[in-house]
Amino acid sequence: MTPGVTTVGRLMFNQSLPPEYRDEGREIKHKKDLSELLLRIAKEAPDKYVDALKGINDVARNVVFDYGRTASFSLSGLALPPEIKKLRDTYKAQIHLIKEDPKLDAEQKNKAIIDYLMPKISELQKKLTELPDEDNGFIQQVKTGARGNASQLMQILFGDMIVEDHKERPIPVPGLHGYGEGVTPVEMWAGSYGSRKGYIGVQLATSDAGYFGKQLTQVAHRVVVTEDDCGANDVGLTVPGGDTNNVGSVLAVGAGDLKAGHVLTKQDLHKLDDKEITVRSAVTCQAREGICSKCAGIREKGHFPHKGDAVGVTASRAIAEPLTQAMLSSKHTGGVAGKEKHMSAFKSVNQFIQVPEAFIGAAPLAKRDGKISAIDKAPQGGHYVHIGEEEHYVPEDQELNVKVNQEVEAGDALSDGLPNPAEIVKYKGIGEGRRYFTQKYYDILKENNVGNHRRNVEAIARAFINRVKITHPDGYAGHFPGDVVSYDDFVRDYEPREGYELTSPSRAVNQYLEKPMMHYSIGTRITPSIAKKMESAKIKMILAHKEEPVFEPVVSRAQDVSINDKDWMTRLGGFNLKKGMVDAASRGSTSQLGGSSFIPSVVSGTGLYSDIIDDEEE
Ligand SMILES: [Zn+2]
Repeated sequence: MTPGVTTVGRLMFNQSLPPEYRDEGREIKHKKDLSELLLRIAKEAPDKYVDALKGINDVARNVVFDYGRTASFSLSGLALPPEIKKLRDTYKAQIHLIKEDPKLDAEQKNKAIIDYLMPKISELQKKLTELPDEDNGFIQQVKTGARGNASQLMQILFGDMIVEDHKERPIPVPGLHGYGEGVTPVEMWAGSYGSRKGYIGVQLATSDAGYFGKQLTQVAHRVVVTEDDCGANDVGLTVPGGDTNNVGSVLAVGAGDLKAGHVLTKQDLHKLDDKEITVRSAVTCQAREGICSKCAGIREKGHFPHKGDAVGVTASRAIAEPLTQAMLSSKHTGGVAGKEKHMSAFKSVNQFIQVPEAFIGAAPLAKRDGKISAIDKAPQGGHYVHIGEEEHYVPEDQELNVKVNQEVEAGDALSDGLPNPAEIVKYKGIGEGRRYFTQKYYDILKENNVGNHRRNVEAIARAFINRVKITHPDGYAGHFPGDVVSYDDFVRDYEPREGYELTSPSRAVNQYLEKPMMHYSIGTRITPSIAKKMESAKIKMILAHKEEPVFEPVVSRAQDVSINDKDWMTRLGGFNLKKGMVDAASRGSTSQLGGSSFIPSVVSGTGLYSDIIDDEEE
């Protein structure tokens, strides 16, 4: 465009922006150009953002109102340009040849049709979006990113090409007529499988994802900020120094020239790029109830969270929401073949909190410390890995990641499968279990394009992996043997048992931690590799005990977390109410208004609480 010349549309658009953001030469060609501009305003001039947004909205509304006929669709937009019509004739001719081929039987013909059209789909979509768009609202919408996608454009203008049935098998009925011009009865019939499945799928995906989000929220709802600083010392999560998730975290252990207590900035990350660092984390916070502000770290708003901020609920929404969206968008294809699917993301993310007995794709874990004495081929496929007397089966579809004579520790994965977090906790303790959960959950979300902030996952990990079963025959601190209690509640008043030793990590091998250190929790058995990690983090002394702890860590599925809550009213917000209530009554469980759970307050608002108190007073 000639310098100094602009369009009316640009003048109107610029007028709606704060003066310093006006630029008559700027072209907004795609949705992302607009998003970038708005993001810039939101960051640089947040107080002008709302007005700018409203201004742009008003311009758009006025234009549609005043010029609706020309700014919208017209029927002519549905007409196929001659070159695309020619393409359709080529497809038809080729399909005709396949159908008339005397050498092929019916099944071979079907396969040949699918094989011919499948690779053409992306080619055709590209051609359609490259058509001139001046007079065509449909193409414009897709090209500018305003609405719709190339697949939907193809369905309206050209046809479905190949659709899938309800079992995701391609149907050998070519869809060569657009929904704009009208489809043949056979094409309509073929498409109905996919569209019905899509319709049902949306309902099911919404309910699956909704239930998932509800469980996460329930698990994490007690992760509320209750104090400014728990004062955790030498306790934190060890993470790669260059990870951008560290921005806003507080260093738990000094790193390089940065001292413990330093709040990490973007600039610091470059210096720490090749180091492992230990940061304060929800996973390791020592707050008496909920978590502290320092361990939560600086969040989206640019400051440490305040007392009362529901970090856990925010985290569970932040994880469940994009996952729901990903599931819905994968269902919205209306059965057109060749679309990627997000179900696997949901399945693996969901499996982590369901603790199923048959954990799909689980890596077998070493049941004890020791040397791998032999690896034998299993007659049914896969391998048997021997550590002393213990035999471990590694299924055929997994690759071994251990060799004969290699030293392993209990809980180490023997293959490239996905270790079940519940088993990691059993062998390696609450602390390592939370660390593993955080890392793996974060990775799975990222791999499936529903990336998230690591600290959101940390909040979930703290709440989800937080149960211990009292095993000491005499019980402990008022708990009976067999009682399942929250680890956080349990350690709050935990005193190192008589006979503990203050010793170096390497001398404490095979003893049990009596005081948390790094991310390792009380009761963790010190193995040679843990001792090494502690020593490389320059930890000189730890508190350890020769005797096994008075509890063992357990992981229960998300929906059972609240039936073990110490507060009987909080149990009302969960599942399995009958079991939870009977158990609460038999233990004389109490309820506390104003604790980290919001549920007693909600219940009290209904009047139930005061009724009970009145009854007690009478
Ligand atoms: Zn803390």
